[in-house]
Amino acid sequence: MKKYVFFFGGKKAEGGERLRNLLGGKGAGLAEMVNIGIPVPPGFTISTEACVYYFKHRATFPPGLKREVIKNVAKVEKIMNKKFGSPDNPLLFSVRSGARKSMPGMMETVLNIGLTSKTIPGLIKRTQNPRFVYDAYRRLLMMYSDVVMEKAAGIEPPEGEGIREKLENEMDHLKKEKGYTTDMDLTVDDLMALCEKFKAIIKDTLHKDFPDDHYEQLWGGIGAVFQSWMGKRAVAYRKIEKIPDDWGTAVNVQAMAFGNTGENSATGVAFTRNPATGEDVFYGEWLPNAQGEDVVAGIRTPNPVNKAGKTEDTKHLISLEEAMPKIYKELFVIQKKLEKHFKDMQDIEFTIEEGKLWMLQTRTGKRNGQAAIRMAVEMAQSKLITKEEALMRVKPDQIDELLHPSVDPASEKKAFELAKGLPAGPGGAVGRIVFTADDADAWAKKGEKVILVRNETSPEDVHGMHAAQAILTAKGGMTSHAALVARGWGKCCIVGCSALDVDVHKKEIQVNGKVLREGDWITLNGTAGRVYEGKLNLLPADPERNPWFKELMKWAGMYKRLKIRTNADRPEDARVARNFGAEGIGLCRTEHMFFEADRIMAVREMILSDTLEGRKKALAKLLPMQKGDFIGIFRVMEGLPVTIRLLDPPLHEFLPHTDRELDEIAKQMGVPFEKLSAKNNSLHEFNPMLGHRGCRLGITYPEIYEMQAQAIMEAACELAQEKVKVIPEIMIPIVGHVKELERMRDLVVTVAERVQKEYKVKVPYTVGTMIELPRACVTSHEIAEVADFYSFGTNDLTQTVFGLSRDDAQNFLPHYIKTGILKEDPFITIDQTGVGALMEMAVVQGRKVKKNLKIGICGEHGGEPNSVEFCHRIGLDYVSCSPYRVTVAKLAAAQAAIKEAGEKKKKQK
Ligand code: PEP
Ligand code: MG
Repeated sequence: MKKYVFFFGGKKAEGGERLRNLLGGKGAGLAEMVNIGIPVPPGFTISTEACVYYFKHRATFPPGLKREVIKNVAKVEKIMNKKFGSPDNPLLFSVRSGARKSMPGMMETVLNIGLTSKTIPGLIKRTQNPRFVYDAYRRLLMMYSDVVMEKAAGIEPPEGEGIREKLENEMDHLKKEKGYTTDMDLTVDDLMALCEKFKAIIKDTLHKDFPDDHYEQLWGGIGAVFQSWMGKRAVAYRKIEKIPDDWGTAVNVQAMAFGNTGENSATGVAFTRNPATGEDVFYGEWLPNAQGEDVVAGIRTPNPVNKAGKTEDTKHLISLEEAMPKIYKELFVIQKKLEKHFKDMQDIEFTIEEGKLWMLQTRTGKRNGQAAIRMAVEMAQSKLITKEEALMRVKPDQIDELLHPSVDPASEKKAFELAKGLPAGPGGAVGRIVFTADDADAWAKKGEKVILVRNETSPEDVHGMHAAQAILTAKGGMTSHAALVARGWGKCCIVGCSALDVDVHKKEIQVNGKVLREGDWITLNGTAGRVYEGKLNLLPADPERNPWFKELMKWAGMYKRLKIRTNADRPEDARVARNFGAEGIGLCRTEHMFFEADRIMAVREMILSDTLEGRKKALAKLLPMQKGDFIGIFRVMEGLPVTIRLLDPPLHEFLPHTDRELDEIAKQMGVPFEKLSAKNNSLHEFNPMLGHRGCRLGITYPEIYEMQAQAIMEAACELAQEKVKVIPEIMIPIVGHVKELERMRDLVVTVAERVQKEYKVKVPYTVGTMIELPRACVTSHEIAEVADFYSFGTNDLTQTVFGLSRDDAQNFLPHYIKTGILKEDPFITIDQTGVGALMEMAVVQGRKVKKNLKIGICGEHGGEPNSVEFCHRIGLDYVSCSPYRVTVAKLAAAQAAIKEAGEKKKKQK
C-alpha cells in the first residue's frame, strides 16, 4: 500500500529535502532539521499525493490514511509523553499547509487542535494556567470556525460578515466595554465567557455545533488544508507564480509548542540574513508570551530579535538577546547551522515554551533584487556556494530593480490603485499628468516633473517622452513605440493600460469612475505595471556604487559565451550601454535620427520631391548631419563593432500631418501647395508595416541608402585618419529575397570603396542583413552567400510568422493569454516552437553555406532572459538589447552557459 504519511521527531525523520515534492517545502524543512539534530516538535507530514488523491476522488481521503495517521499520532504521543484527547495530560496539534514551492499566506493553518470540554480541565491542571488555556481555546474557535467550518465548506459570506469578523467584533466589543487596550488585558473569566459566546455565534451563523471531539477536529483541519489548495487566493497566486494546480499541498500535523504560557515563553520569526539589504546579520522579530500568528498579524508591535536589529523606532524595545541571552545564543547557533546546511538564506519560525527553544519552520527566504545579489556574492566569496551557484541564484529581472528608482513598497501598500497595464519600462516615477509631447517639454523646462499620458505615442512625441519622468499609454503592447523608446532610455513606462479613457482634447482621463486632469499627480510602478493616484515615495537607484552587483557582473562575464550588444541610436545611449558592459552596438536605427527638429524638414522635402534632383538636394542637407551622428557613436564605441541599419520604416511616418506644415514645406521647396498635397496623399498606405519600407525603399530610391552609406563611411574614414578604431557593420532591413540584398550590398560596397579612396584610408567594414521575414529564414542558404552577418529582427519576424500586427495585437492578445491559447506574449518572449524554429532553420542553413557566419538578434527579445537562453542554445554569437537591459542579458547569458554545462555533465554521467 502506498505510504502517505512521513514521521519526523526525536532524532530521526522519515523524509528530507530529497522528498520535497512529496512533503512540500515545510515538511521537507522540518524533516531536514530533525535529521541534523535541531529541536523540532515531533509530528508527521501527509504527502501531496494524498491531496492529489483527495481532489481526484471528490474530497475523500485515500484508503489507509486514517490508520497511518493514528499510528503516527501514537509516535508523537510517545515522544511528547502526552496523549491526544487525554483528560489528564492532553497533546495538542497544529495543522499547517506546505506546498512544494512556498506560497506565503496563501493557504490555511489551524492551531490548538485537540482542545475539547474533556481536555481543557486536564491542560489547566497540568499548566496551572487557566488563562493560557482559555486563550488557546478562543484562538481555536476563531481559526477553526473560519478555516474549516466556513471556508473549507465553501461558504462565501458577504464582505465583513464572515465568521472570523463576527468573532473578532465580539472580542473588540468586550474589550471596549471593559476599557481594555490589548488582548493581554482579558482575564480568565472574560475568556471563558467569550468562548461560550463564540460557540453560540458559530452555531447561530453556521448552523452547526463546534466539534467537541479531538479526532473530528483533526480530520476537519486536514481536509480544510487540502481544500485551501483550491481556495481563491491560492489559485490566483499560483497563476502569477506559474505553479501547476496539480501539485497539491502537503499537510503538516505537529505537536503544539506554546509561546504564550507566560513570561518565560515567546515566539518569533527571523531571517539568517537581512532580506531587504542582504547584509550578513541575523535579523528577526520576537514577542514574549505570544503565539506565532501574533508576530505575523501585526496585532502587537514585535521586538527586534537582537541589538543589531534595533532601529530608531524599536530601540526602546527589549531584544531576545537581552531578555533571554542563553536561548538567543542557542538560536543564533541554530540559524547559522541551518544556513550552512541549506546553503541559502533561511526564513525561520521559532517558539520558546517555558524556557525551551523549538524550531517550527525553515524555508528559503524571499528577498528583493538588491538583497539577492549581495547574498549570492557574499555566499560565494565565503565559499558557502560556488560562483556558478551565485550566478544561478539571482533572477535576471532582479537586476532591473537595481537600475531604476523604485516605488517604496510601504507607500504603495497604502496607495489608491487607478489601473493596471503592461510593465514596459521598469522602475518608479512620480509626476503631473500632461497630454501632449509639447506640453511635457514645456512643463519640464519650467522644472515640473511630468508623466506623459497618451493613447499611444509616435516618433514625433519623442522630445516630450524624453522630457517626461515616465510614459503611460492606454494602447499598445510591449513592442509599441512607447515601450521600445522608454526601455531604451531606462525610463519608467506602462503601456496597454486599457482602463484609461484618455481624452487628449479635453485633457482628461476617465478611469474606473474617476476623472484625472492635466496637472494631477500620479505615480507609476513600471516594474509591476500599476498606476496610482497621487505622489508616492520613491527609493533611489545607484548600481555603480554597488560592489556586489559589480562583482556579480564580473563573474557573469567569465561564464557567458554570448556577446552582449546594445540597441542605441544616440551617443548618450551608447555610452550608458558601454558603461553597463555592452560589447558593441547591435542595432542603430537611423530613422530615429531623422525626427529631430533640424532634420525633419529636409526629410519631408526628400520624400515629397518628384525628381531625383530634388531628392538629392534634400539628401545633401541630411548628409552632414548623419555623418555627425555616426562620428559621435563611433567615438563612444571605439574598438567595438557598430551595426548601423539603413532606413527602415514607411515614409509616411515622416510626412506632415497638417496643412500648415505642408504649406511650410511647399514654400521652402517652391512647389504649389496642391501639388504637394496630392503627392502627400499618394503616399498613403493601407498597411504600412508590410508596405514601402526597409530595403524596398533603398531599391526604389537608391539615393537614400547611398547617402547613408556615404555618411557612415565618411565618418569611419575621418576617425580612422585620427587613428580611432572603428568597426562599421552596415545592415539592410526587411530582406525577403536574396536579390534584394545583392542589389543593396553592391550599392553599399560601391559607395564604401569610393569613399575610402577619397580619404585614402582602409576601414574594414561588413555588409549584412536583418532576418525578419519568414522567407528570409527559409531561403537562408541563398541569403548567407551574400551576407557577412545576420541579425534577427524578432519584432517583425514574430509579426510576420504569426500574421499578427505588432501594433494592434494588444486588442486580443491578452485574451489569448488569459484563456491559455498562448502561454506568453510572443512579442516579449520568443515563441520557440514557431518563430524559434524558423530562426534555428536560418542559423543551420546559413552556417552550412558560411561556417563562421556571425549571427545575432536585435529584436526586443534580445534582453528577455528566456529568449536569451534560447539564443544561446541555437548558437547565436550575440544578443542586442536596450542599454538598461545589458546587465540583465549578461546574467541570463551566463546562466544559459552554466545550465548547458550542467546538462552536458549529466549526460556524460
Ligand atoms: C525587429 O523587427 O525586430 C527590429 C529590431 O526592427 P524594428 O523593431 O525597428 O522593426
Ligand atoms: Mg524590424
